[in-house]
Amino acid sequence: MNATRIRVWTLALGFLFGAAAMRAQVTAIRAGALVDPAAGTLARDQVILVEKGRITAVGAAGATSIPPNATVVDLSKRTVMPGFFDAHTHLCLNLETQEGAGLPALLRSLLAATAIETTAYRSIEGVANAREMLRSGFTTVRDVGNAGNYADTALRRAIEDGLVPGPTIINAGRIIGPYGGQYHGIPPERADIAIPEYIYADSPDEIRKAVRENVAFGAKVIKIAVDDQPYLYSVDDVKTFVREAAAAGVKVAAHCATDEGSRIAAEGGVASVEHGYRASTPTLQLMKAKGVYLVGTDFTVQASKAMGMDEYHPMVVDRLKRAYQVGVPVAFGTDVVFVKPNETRGTLSIEFITSFVEAGVTPRLILQALTTNAAKLLGVEKERGAIAPGMAADVVATPDNPLEKIDTVRHVTFVMKDGTVIRND
Ligand SMILES: [Zn+2]
Repeated sequence: MNATRIRVWTLALGFLFGAAAMRAQVTAIRAGALVDPAAGTLARDQVILVEKGRITAVGAAGATSIPPNATVVDLSKRTVMPGFFDAHTHLCLNLETQEGAGLPALLRSLLAATAIETTAYRSIEGVANAREMLRSGFTTVRDVGNAGNYADTALRRAIEDGLVPGPTIINAGRIIGPYGGQYHGIPPERADIAIPEYIYADSPDEIRKAVRENVAFGAKVIKIAVDDQPYLYSVDDVKTFVREAAAAGVKVAAHCATDEGSRIAAEGGVASVEHGYRASTPTLQLMKAKGVYLVGTDFTVQASKAMGMDEYHPMVVDRLKRAYQVGVPVAFGTDVVFVKPNETRGTLSIEFITSFVEAGVTPRLILQALTTNAAKLLGVEKERGAIAPGMAADVVATPDNPLEKIDTVRHVTFVMKDGTVIRND
């Protein structure tokens, strides 16, 4: 080794040890109150110790000693809880939805966006939306496709590599659907116009190949569109997806707009029914029996209007009410793709709790949908979704106690992601 090389090595090692020493720095959060969503309880005057991105201790202020060199974050006037989850995002898609123009117009604008926009631009949209989701308290999301040619994989990697701030992402890559994807009336001259937004897969062989292709290009969950064409996937088709996905260690999320689609997906053993707008009570009962989550994308009045889907708001509120009566596991998921002045992807998404409130869901259950339940659905419950020693330090704080006033989750003042403070105001 020559002198220059030794110098470079010394510098590199010095940098590494320096970085390690910085990371070993302890952060102590003084929480005025700490909420445990799983138990539905609140404890006053708690201390949370964070080191190297993880929670190392949680306890009453008097009983938990703060190391002398710790950085103290004073949240003594706030209520602290685990970061939120959105189990149905499309971070790499912004749509001009032509408010009020209805579903066909919406699909046309999706087609326009996907046909005209580059994947490079889509990933930059993803960076902006990821940042705003995180600022609103969403520390983990499941991003379910519509990301061009794997913009979502690029976004996930950029966040994991620390290039840009954003939530932990479980991404779906390309959505797999029967011929035509989710588009209707595609021109025969341009039969592949839905590609790369979708992978067409009809036969069992095509289904297996589509799953493998998706996983090879970075998908961490498989998203299928069960019932957007007159030809639905069958229970056997869904089982083929689930088997092939399981072999690759990933779960299946199924877009189901109809009752029949929701029933087929549940029968086929998917992890979650997305939307389930028209799911009947017997279908919800089947979902409960099979342990299938509902990710209801429960449009607020504002979101329904923006999407040109006014009639969906009362429909999803009624379906959400029935889902909770039946006891289906519910994970919070939004499906926001529209843009609105003076709002961000984050503020538009967290507003969806108002649909839960309208359905009569208690604050405790809403918090569980936002944290514990979603963590289980995403398969990260040993890492995230609770504030306990060993868990990732994904922490948010609100002005009020959400168990009494759930609306306070729309006004997050503090966000910590993997131990890094994102905002504190
Ligand atoms: Zn969606």
